[in-house]
Amino acid sequence: MNTATSQPRRLTILGSTGSIGTNTLDVIRQMGGRDRFDIMALTGHGNVALLAEQALVTGARLAVTSDENQYIALKDMLSGSDIDVAAGSSGLHEAASLEADWVMAAIVGTAGLQPTLTAAARGADIALANKECLVSAGELFIETVRKGGGKIIPVDSEHSAIFQCLDENHRDTLERIVLTASGGPFRTFTRQQMADVSVQTARAHPNWSMGLKVSIGSASMFNKALEMIEAKHLFDLTPDQIEVIVHPQSIVHSMVGYRDGSVLAQLGVPDMRTAIGYALSYPKRAALDVDRLDFTKLARLDFEAPDLDRFPAIRLARTALERGGLQGAVLNAAEECAFEAFVEEKIGFLAMADVVEDVMDHLSGLAPATVIADVFAADAQARRRAQEVILNQGCTG
Ligand code: NAD
Ligand code: MG
Repeated sequence: MNTATSQPRRLTILGSTGSIGTNTLDVIRQMGGRDRFDIMALTGHGNVALLAEQALVTGARLAVTSDENQYIALKDMLSGSDIDVAAGSSGLHEAASLEADWVMAAIVGTAGLQPTLTAAARGADIALANKECLVSAGELFIETVRKGGGKIIPVDSEHSAIFQCLDENHRDTLERIVLTASGGPFRTFTRQQMADVSVQTARAHPNWSMGLKVSIGSASMFNKALEMIEAKHLFDLTPDQIEVIVHPQSIVHSMVGYRDGSVLAQLGVPDMRTAIGYALSYPKRAALDVDRLDFTKLARLDFEAPDLDRFPAIRLARTALERGGLQGAVLNAAEECAFEAFVEEKIGFLAMADVVEDVMDHLSGLAPATVIADVFAADAQARRRAQEVILNQGCTG
C-alpha cells in the first residue's frame, strides 16, 4: 500500500460514468484532485463521450469501455492524448490490475464482480458500491479481499452508516443492525395500484438520485433485499441480527443496536458523496461541500414496518439468508433478469418478485460454492430459469 503522504494516492474507478462514479469524481475534485490523487484507470460502458472527458480532466492513465463496439469511438476521442485505451472484459481486467491503492467498485450488477475480484486479489482497498459482489460471491469475495491484504470500505449508504457506528473492538456487544429503507415511490400504494405502475414512475425516487437499477430496486425493495445479504457478509451477522425498517425521510442512514439497549445511528442529508468521502478518507473525514442537516427544519422522522405482502423482496431475502449457500447468487441473478424484463415491459412490476421466488425455489438445492466458478455457474443457471419464467409470465399476461 502507498502510505507516504507526499505521494499522490493512486485510484481507479470502475464504473466512473454512472451515478456513484460521477459523485466519486466530484469528491476527488473537492479533496484536491490531481494534486493529491493519481487516477490510474476509469471505466464506463456506453457513454464514452463522458468517459473521455473524465479521463482528460483527471489525467487518467487508462480509459476503458466495457462495450467493445465503443472502442474506436473512445480511441478517436482520446487521440492526441497520452491516455491508453482498452475495451471489453480484457480491458476491465487491465483496469483492475493497474497498481491503484484504492479502487471504487461502482459498476452496476454482476458485471462488476470479476473486475472487483481482480482488484481485491492484488491487494487494493475496495470502496464497495457494487453490492452484487457480496450478494453473489459472499464468503468467497471476503476471502479474496483477506488473502489479497486490502480491506473493504462500504459505500452503500446503509452499510457506510453501520460501518461508522460499529464498535469493532467490542464486536461481542453488538446485538443487531437496523437497515433503513425509504419505502420508495410506492410506499403508500395498494398492491393493486402497484400492479400497473410504469418504469417512469418506478424510477422516480423521492429522496435519492441514483442509477436506473438501484432506483427500480428501491421501488420494489429488492435493493433492500440485496442490502440485507450484503450486510450479512460485510459484518458477519446471523439472519436474525438483520432488521429492516421503513424510514421515508432517508435521514437516518442505518443503525447499530448493542446489548445494553443502546442504538447508534448515522444521520445526514441523502447525498452519496458523504459515504464516498468517508470511504476515500477512512479512518479520517474529509471536508466536503454537501448540504448540512438543519434539525430545526426537520419536521419529523417516521419509522414503520415494511409490508411483506406488497414488498415480498424482503421475505425472499430472509429466505436466501436462511438457506445460505448459493441462494444469494441465485436471487441476485434472477432479480437482474426480472429487472431487465420489467424495464423492457415484458413483465409487470409485481411479477419481478414472482420470477425471483420461482428461480430461488427451483435452485434451492445447489451445493455451496467452493470456488468462484461455482458462483458464475449458479448465476448462469438462475438466468436460464428466469428467462423461462419470464417467457411464461409474458404469455399468461
Ligand atoms: P449507474 O447505472 O448509474 O452506473 C453504472 C456504471 O457501470 C456506469 O459507469 C456504466 O457505464 C457501467 N456499466 C453498466 N453496464 C456495464 C457492464 N455490462 N459492464 C461494465 N460496466 C457497466 O449505477 P449506479 O447507480 O452508479 O450504481 C453502481 C453500483 O453502486 C450498483 O451496484 C448499485 O447497487 C450501487 N449503489 C448505488 C447507489 C446510488 O446512489 N446510485 C447507492 C448505493 C449503492
Ligand atoms: Mg443503499
